[in-house]
Amino acid sequence: MTGAAGFIGHATAHRLLARGEQVIGLDNFNDYYDPALKRARAATFQSCPGFRMIEADIADPGAVAAIMREHGIVRVVHLAAQAGVRYSLDHPFSYERSNLAGHLAVLEACRHAPDFAHLVYASSSSVYGSRTFSGAGFREDDAVDKPASLYAATKRACELMSESYASLYGFPQTGLRFFTVYGPWGRPDMAYFSFTRRILAGEPIEVYGEGAMARDFTYVDDIVDGLVGALDHPPPANENRILNIGDNKPVGLMDMIEILETVLGRRAEKLMRPMQPGDVPATWADISKLRDLTGYQPKVMLAEGLHRFAAWYRDFYMVVG
Ligand code: NAD
Repeated sequence: MTGAAGFIGHATAHRLLARGEQVIGLDNFNDYYDPALKRARAATFQSCPGFRMIEADIADPGAVAAIMREHGIVRVVHLAAQAGVRYSLDHPFSYERSNLAGHLAVLEACRHAPDFAHLVYASSSSVYGSRTFSGAGFREDDAVDKPASLYAATKRACELMSESYASLYGFPQTGLRFFTVYGPWGRPDMAYFSFTRRILAGEPIEVYGEGAMARDFTYVDDIVDGLVGALDHPPPANENRILNIGDNKPVGLMDMIEILETVLGRRAEKLMRPMQPGDVPATWADISKLRDLTGYQPKVMLAEGLHRFAAWYRDFYMVVG
C-alpha cells in the first residue's frame, strides 16, 4: 500500500490487517502537513505483526519495483499522492513528481510483477471540474475534460495512464474517485480540520466561496468500506474500472460549519472570502455503480462523523499536535 502513513491509507491498512491480511506500507513522510501526524499514524501499526512500513518515494521506479519483487506483491492499493487543490497553485512540480511520475512508477512495477492481480488507485471528485447541481449526482461516465486545478488534471491523467496500461498490458485496475473524506486521523489542511483548530483556539475562520460551496462529505470508515469492497471485486484484465466513493448527500459549507459549532459547543467567528482559484462550487457523488458492484452503503451521517472527529481531536491531536 502506498501512502500508508496518510489519512486514508492508515485507516485502510488497519481494516485489511483486522481481517488477517499482510500489508507492506510505503510512504515518504513528506512535510506537506505535519510529518509528526504521519509518524503518529505509523506508530499505531507497531502492535500489528502483519504490517511493515518502508520509507521510500513512489517517484523512484527502482525502489517501487524492488519492494514489489522482494515481497511478491500481487495486489496494490495506491494512495500516495500530492493532495490539495490550493497548494497546487504554488507547488506545481510536487504534483508532477508524486502524481504523474509516481503513478507511472507504480504502473510499471505492477506491469512487471508476476501473477499481478489488482491495482486499486486514488482518483478524486475534482476530476468533475466546476459544476453546479442539476438534480442528480455526478456519474462516472459524465464528461471529465475540464479540470479546474492542476491537482484535478494530474488525477485525471492518472486515470488515463491507467487506461492505457490496462489495455496494453492487461492487468485489472480500479480508480476510485473519493469525495471529500473526513474523520479521525484526518488531514490538517482540510477545512473541517482547520476550522476545528481555529474555533477551539478562539480564532476566526476563513469561509471561501462566501460560504456558498457544497461538498459530498464522506466519513473515512465509509470510504474504507467502499475501497475494500472494490479491492475484493477486481474487474476483468484489460479493464480500468472507475468508481465514485461518496456519501451521496451534499452539504452546504455553512451547514457543515453550523454542525461543527454544535459539536464543539462554540460559535465560530466567520470571515467571508471569495472563491479561491481551483476550487469548485459543488460535489455530489452518484454511488450506484459501486453499490451495485459491492453493496456499498455509507453509514455515518455528517453530525456523527464530525462528533467522532472532534472526540479524536480533543483526546489525541490537541495533546500531541
Ligand atoms: P494524505 O496526504 O494524508 O496521504 C498521502 C500519503 O502519501 C502521505 O502520507 C504522504 O506522505 C504520502 N506521499 C505523498 N507523496 C509521496 C511520494 N512521492 N512517495 C511516497 N509517499 C508519498 O492524503 P489522503 O487524504 O489520505 O489521500 C489519499 C489519496 O486519496 C490521495 O491520492 C489523494 O489525492 C486522494 N484523495 C483524497 C481525498 C480526501 O478528501 N482526503 C479526496 C480525493 C482524493
